[in-house]
Amino acid sequence: KPIIAIVGRANVGKSTLFNRMVRMSVDRTKSTAITESIPGVTRDRNYVETEWDRKKFIVIDTGGFYAEEISHGDKEILRQVREQAMFAIEEADLIIHLLDAKEGLMPSDIELADILRKSGKKILWVVNKIDTQSKEDRLLEFYRIGAEEIIPVSAVTGYGFDELMDKAIALIPKDMETKPSEDEIPRVAVVGRPNVGKSTLINSLLGKKRLIVSHIPGTTRDSIDSICSYYGKRYLLIDTAGIRKKGKIYSQKIDIEKFSIVRAIRSIERADVAIIVLDASEGVVEQDQKIAGIVEDYGKGVIFLLNKWDIIREPEIYYKEIIQELKNKIWFMDYAPCITTSGLEKKRITKIFPIIDEIIAERQKRIPTADLNKFLSKIIAVKPFPPYKGRELKFFYITQVGIKPPTFTIFVNYPSGVKAHHIRYIEKALRQEYSFKGTPIRIYVKSR
Ligand code: GDP
Repeated sequence: KPIIAIVGRANVGKSTLFNRMVRMSVDRTKSTAITESIPGVTRDRNYVETEWDRKKFIVIDTGGFYAEEISHGDKEILRQVREQAMFAIEEADLIIHLLDAKEGLMPSDIELADILRKSGKKILWVVNKIDTQSKEDRLLEFYRIGAEEIIPVSAVTGYGFDELMDKAIALIPKDMETKPSEDEIPRVAVVGRPNVGKSTLINSLLGKKRLIVSHIPGTTRDSIDSICSYYGKRYLLIDTAGIRKKGKIYSQKIDIEKFSIVRAIRSIERADVAIIVLDASEGVVEQDQKIAGIVEDYGKGVIFLLNKWDIIREPEIYYKEIIQELKNKIWFMDYAPCITTSGLEKKRITKIFPIIDEIIAERQKRIPTADLNKFLSKIIAVKPFPPYKGRELKFFYITQVGIKPPTFTIFVNYPSGVKAHHIRYIEKALRQEYSFKGTPIRIYVKSR
């Protein structure tokens, strides 16, 4: 999907504008999804997939990728601004350069605008905090930036927002969904933070015959796809890491790990199954957690690879420890299979293939409504819904409404009465009964 990046100095209102765009995606969702907070999903999330006028895109608040320090010297501001620009130029299809009417035009705004302009990317210059009457004359000074058009908005009140969105989507390319290949090759994204061994793993899987798939419009620009075959069956490996190695080097100030999140998103959204590679010697870190959160968020299949297992001493003892750590830190994915590998020594890496097949089958499974209802009556009898505001909370029926990931809707009299822990209980029971190994499932609650 096309990416729109919001850039600008600290405090110009990037996250307010971002949140407004997020809200319009939330408004679309009619049924209630009851989920608990998952890292990278609800908390500190700086990207979101949304749509306007039926055009889908991802919007990124680049400010969220920095610890934006507000009161520091000009030099610092300029550096921050430059790096933000590089990031946006590399990742985005459209850049919204947000300016601040209250503070006026600052030297760093001009600097940022210059870098952006040289990139040849599509840019919209937008002046925020236009909430007072005398808006037009406030805009004038911003034309010094060299833009043909300056768009006034107020991210807080919503003034100018619709016009901005109309202009934005007119400039982004059409969403190029990857078409399902005729022979249904499973698509596997290899993701993980830098240096966990993704490239090494992929090279080991591919052997000498690294076959790079020709470009699919709008997608492969950011990743290298390769076809790899195992016992005659083919798999498409999506590798976002590889191409970036030769790419831009950011300065130390930028958290490369955070940037790698955006790349992970790009791979994940095109995949059926994500292989999350961890560096077993380093344990499970926050960034792993975030990547897992994205996979869950996108509803993709998942396998954890405890990689670099060759350097683990006392593997038997350590295995138990790290599995426990995984359970604690990535509790929301207790359904995910986990294997130990060494990409470097080519150990156990082909184990992924049968697991991928299994997960893909699980994701496509459909449970007949009659079975589901029998099952749900049974488990609700064991643990009844608590009353809601003194009234009895009744469940009417459950049905599977989708696959990839398996999605269920439960019809009840008072949806707001169903709590997260109840959904968790139902999910657990569903998995005990029907497995759904390696895939998230979705449970929605609706009123009849
Ligand atoms: P990427 O950034 O995730 O693609 O990581 P790379 O594949 O570039 O690997 C980063 C570093 O880890 C390199 O020095 C590799 O040689 C090393 N490495 C990768 N896989 C393994 C492994 O299985 N075992 C060990 N011991 N080192 C590995």
